[in-house]
Amino acid sequence: DDSSPPSVNMPKDKLLGGLLHAGFDEGSCLSRYQSFLYRKNSPHRPSSYLLSRLRSYEDLHKRCGPHTKSYNKTVERLKSGHNNGPTECSYVVWLSFSGLGNRILTMASAFLYALLTNRVLLVDPGNDMANLFCEPFPETSWILPLDFTFKNQFNSFDQNSPHCYGNMLKNNIINTSTESLPSFLYLHLVHDYNEHDKQFFCDQDQTLLGKVPWLIIKTDNYFVPSLFLIPSFEKELGNLFPNKEFVFHHLGRYLFHPSNQVWGLITRYYQAYLAKADERIGIQIRNFDSGTGPFQYVMDQILACTLKEKLLPEVKKQESIVTPSKKQISKAVIMTSLISGYFENLRNMYWEHPTVTGEVIGVYQPSHEEYQQTEKQLHNRKAWTEMYLLSLTDVLVTSSWSTFGYVAQGLGGLKPWILYKPENRTAPDPPCHRAMSMEPCFHAPPFYDCKAKTGIDTGAVVRHVRHCEDMSWGLKLI
Ligand code: GDP
Repeated sequence: DDSSPPSVNMPKDKLLGGLLHAGFDEGSCLSRYQSFLYRKNSPHRPSSYLLSRLRSYEDLHKRCGPHTKSYNKTVERLKSGHNNGPTECSYVVWLSFSGLGNRILTMASAFLYALLTNRVLLVDPGNDMANLFCEPFPETSWILPLDFTFKNQFNSFDQNSPHCYGNMLKNNIINTSTESLPSFLYLHLVHDYNEHDKQFFCDQDQTLLGKVPWLIIKTDNYFVPSLFLIPSFEKELGNLFPNKEFVFHHLGRYLFHPSNQVWGLITRYYQAYLAKADERIGIQIRNFDSGTGPFQYVMDQILACTLKEKLLPEVKKQESIVTPSKKQISKAVIMTSLISGYFENLRNMYWEHPTVTGEVIGVYQPSHEEYQQTEKQLHNRKAWTEMYLLSLTDVLVTSSWSTFGYVAQGLGGLKPWILYKPENRTAPDPPCHRAMSMEPCFHAPPFYDCKAKTGIDTGAVVRHVRHCEDMSWGLKLI
C-alpha cells in the first residue's frame, strides 16, 4: 500500500521502547499509539531506570492528582498559608508563558524537575492551550483545576511579587536557615531573572524549596542543562539519562501527544505531501531581524546551506528540458515559516529548472501565519502541527535561537543543520553547521558557582554541559 507511512527494517514498537504506558484508551488520543507509524525508530532506547521512574511517577500523579484526597488536603494547606511540616503530596505548578515552542520545552523542564524532587506537575493551560495535547498520565489529569486558589493571581506573579522566592531572598524575608516557611513560593525563571532568582540552581536553596509543598514556576527557558550542574541531582540524572543527548527526546515523546484535532492536521498533511517521497527534508525558517521579509540574505543562506552541504541538489539553470531517468528519486521538502516568500522561491527554482542529479524535488509549506499570534487556538494548532511534521523528516535544517526548531529536532531525534544567525543583514559564511547534539539550548543560564559564591563559566564545568552552537552564552547537553 503506497499511501501507508514508510516502513523501516527494524520492528517498530508502539510503546516507544516502554516509554508509554499501555493502559490508555486509544480513541481519545490517536497519536499516542500511532506515532510509531510515522516516526523513524528512535536512535536510542530509554534506560530501564527512566522507565521505572516514569511508572512510579504515574502512580504518584494518580494518588496526588486534582481532587484526590491528598490534593484537597494540600490545597487546604495552601489556603491556610502555613507550612506545618511535610505533606503527602507536593506540587510544581507550571504557568503558561511565551510561544508554543518555548512552552513545550518549559513543560518538559518542569516535569523533569518534578521527577527529581518527587513532586506532581500540574499545568495551567492559560487561554489558548485547549485541545493541543492529550493527557500524558493515565487515569488522572495534569491540568490545574479551574478552582485552584491562586488562579486569578497568576497574571500578577512577577519578579517583584511578595511570594517570589528571589524577591524574598533579596529582602531577607527568607534564607536557607529560615524555619517557618510559606506554603507556596513563586519561582521566577524567565530570561530576565536576577541573581536572587537564579539561586534556584543552588543545592542549598533546593533543600529549602524541598520543604515547600507548592512551587509555582514561570519560565520561558529549557533549564534542564543547569539541573545537571546541581550536585544533589547528579547521580539520579546519570541513572535516568546515561546518554545526556536524549533528555528532551525521551521526555518530549513521553509527554507531548497531539490531540485528535492536531493529529488530523498532521496525518492528512503527511499522507498528502510527504509519505510517498524517498527522502523528507525539513527547513525551518525563523528570522528575528526587524521587518517581515522575505529577505534576499536569508534566501541566499538557505540555498548556500542546503546546496553546499548537499542536502538538496543544484539545478541546471541553462537547461529547461530533461529526459527522465528510469527510477527518479523524489525528495519532499517541508518548509515552515511565518511568511511564504522563501518557500515560493525554492519551489519555483525546482519547478523552473531540472536538477543536476535528476532527482525530483517537491517543496511544501503548510501555513504562513504572517506574524506570531497569541490566544488563538487554530494558530497554535498549526504551530504544533508544523513542529511535529518537521520532526518526521530525515534531514532537518533549523534557524538559530528558535525553540520551534528545538522541539522538532528533539522529538525527531535529529541533529539539525543550524542556520547561523545573520549579522547586519548578511548571510553568514559558513551558512550553517551541524549541531553537536539534538538537545535544546538553555538561552539564559546562570553563571554562578554556588559553593565558591563567585561567577564561573558554567559551560566549562563538565563534559556534557557545553555552550550552544547557535548562542555562545547558552548551555546545552551533549
Ligand atoms: P521561537 O520564538 O522561535 O523560539 O518559537 P515559539 O514557538 O516559542 O514562538 C514562536 C511562535 O510564532 C510559534 O509558537 C507560532 O505561534 C509562531 N510561529 C513562528 N514560526 C512559525 C512557523 O513556521 N509556522 C507557524 N505555524 N507558526 C510559527
